[in-house]
Amino acid sequence: MDTVIVNRRAEQRWAAGHPWIFRSDVVQRPTSPAGAVRVETARGLPLGVALWSPKSEISLRMLDGDSRAELDRTWWRRRIAAAVRRRTVVAKAATAYRVVHGEADGCPSLVCDRYGEYLVVQLLSAGIEQYRAEIIAALVDVLDPVGILARNDVPVRTREGLPRTVEAVHGQVPREIEVEENGVRYLAAPWDGQKTGAFLDQRENRALVGAVSRGRALDCFSYHGSFALHLARGSDTVTALDSSGPALERARANAALNGSANIEFVEADAFEFLRAREADGSRYDTIVLDPPAFAKNRQSLTGAVRGYKEINLRGMRLLAEGGYLFTASCSFHLSRGLFFEMLADAAADSGRTLSLRAITGQPHDHPEIITIPETGYIKGALLQAVD
Ligand code: SAH
Repeated sequence: MDTVIVNRRAEQRWAAGHPWIFRSDVVQRPTSPAGAVRVETARGLPLGVALWSPKSEISLRMLDGDSRAELDRTWWRRRIAAAVRRRTVVAKAATAYRVVHGEADGCPSLVCDRYGEYLVVQLLSAGIEQYRAEIIAALVDVLDPVGILARNDVPVRTREGLPRTVEAVHGQVPREIEVEENGVRYLAAPWDGQKTGAFLDQRENRALVGAVSRGRALDCFSYHGSFALHLARGSDTVTALDSSGPALERARANAALNGSANIEFVEADAFEFLRAREADGSRYDTIVLDPPAFAKNRQSLTGAVRGYKEINLRGMRLLAEGGYLFTASCSFHLSRGLFFEMLADAAADSGRTLSLRAITGQPHDHPEIITIPETGYIKGALLQAVD
């Protein structure tokens, strides 16, 4: 293994619990290709072992504070087994959940989601790509899946100088996998669905709003209907809205799977729909707003906040007396502080009185490590109209 010398800032960052070392903090770059390297300070103090990405701005991702660590199948098996143990609570409530949440589980740039007997992995750096065989072998040792799919079609791989492909790397993986969460069944689409096939990161929020849903419900940005399916259990009627026809097709199939006959599916732009419902004086007892990330980067934050405010303002106005609004943002660049500021602004302009019933984030299987802000991105709030 090559040795890399890093500066004081890199040393302090790692000491403060963050595994990334940026290009500008590497004093002496290794000449070896992507893989693992030993990391040392200029004074020769060993910091540990890291993944090395020659093309990335994030040059090093610390893996182990022990410089003697051998990153073999056994090492990966231990890391993955520990991540699995932390999820025993989740495994009782769902057959689909995240097994490895990258940096938050000590496996930087590795994602692994479980869909019943299948796994979907994402190798998101040049360094981790070198350990593909060991990681797949370790996953087979720990979880014994029928098949493993690599959903390596994400843009970040291009920045790492890696090809973008989707391929089965162990056994076979079907186009659709039926899974269950908190008593609701749905079909995941591992090969071509968003993320690794479903939005696993809202599971606990779906249960939360599902428990208070009633009357007339609206699920905006519904995708495959996962919030709508939970709302359907307590509500008289549910409108599942999305701008994507194919997404709604799957939502319809999911409703049939659960025998939920009280959901109507509307293909429309959420902004236009909310505006039109406000104009015609509609009211809902339960509303869910779970939009895509409006802020894809820091530059688009101002416009994104405007978008979030608009849908939230309209959602608040559409609430019946005592009605619930569950609202979320999955934009990493929108901080928790800004999210609540935006909600307060929307509430002030809505002319309604809203009480904060719950502040939420990511579920158990998507741990947010306090010293690694990049591991957290979802902010959620359950509000109730008091008037
Ligand atoms: N709530 C879902 C995830 C939503 S993902 C779940 O828990 O599984 C965001 C969804 O918003 C996508 O399905 C996308 O098609 C839809 N979308 C994006 N822009 C939209 C718009 N302007 N109006 C309505 N839907 C939109």
